[in-house]
Amino acid sequence: MSNGQFIRGARVGSAPPRHPERHQPVPCRSVSYWCRNGHRTDIRLAAEVQAPPTWDCPRCGLPAGPDAHDPPGRVRAEPYKSHLAYVKERRTEAEGEAILAEALAALRRRRGSR
Ligand SMILES: [Zn+2]
Repeated sequence: MSNGQFIRGARVGSAPPRHPERHQPVPCRSVSYWCRNGHRTDIRLAAEVQAPPTWDCPRCGLPAGPDAHDPPGRVRAEPYKSHLAYVKERRTEAEGEAILAEALAALRRRRGSR
């Protein structure tokens, strides 16, 4: 028992010093991203690195997200369009109201003056 322990200890001591953390491969994980066109991209990240929310698809260049059913390209495009449409709608509505109010005021002024 004691002999075995001595031999084992002597072997470890005679070997060049090794740091177990250094010797092992860097712990990594693979993260999958899907783009709007259904391309899957697997990237490897070090375990300590936080996965980015989006990753540009190397095949088509579209932003890809970690959720296969909800790629970021689709999410980004819709609110942008609807917001623009909403602003346009509001503007034309307000403009229309202003034009109507102006016209009515002008009409009343003309009627009042006459
Ligand atoms: Zn793609």
